[in-house]
Amino acid sequence: MSSSEPFRISSRKRKSFSNRERAEIFRDTSGICHLCQRPIGPGEEWDVEHVTPKGLGGSDDPENLRPAHVDCHRGPGGKTSDDRAKMAKADRLALKNAGLWKSKTPMRRR
Ligand SMILES: [Zn+2]
Repeated sequence: MSSSEPFRISSRKRKSFSNRERAEIFRDTSGICHLCQRPIGPGEEWDVEHVTPKGLGGSDDPENLRPAHVDCHRGPGGKTSDDRAKMAKADRLALKNAGLWKSKTPMRRR
């Protein structure tokens, strides 16, 4: 007997929310999708979304949690690139705050 099937380890550490937590998040936000700002209907699937992504130091505190349509959350052309930009910016800021970031371009006035 040989089982060479590798044990699958998910790289995504997602907290799974209980129905009760989800219900509270939903109620606290009146069931408004955090991403498209539209109400989530009774039959619609939704996910718990972190306002500040965990990659940016977001927490699992209720203030950081909002409901979002599954389609909005995982849909194509969603927030992935935007998130990536935000992460890159956060990285730069972190370096800057640590005094490690040396900007090559002069600061632009807005
Ligand atoms: Zn939505």
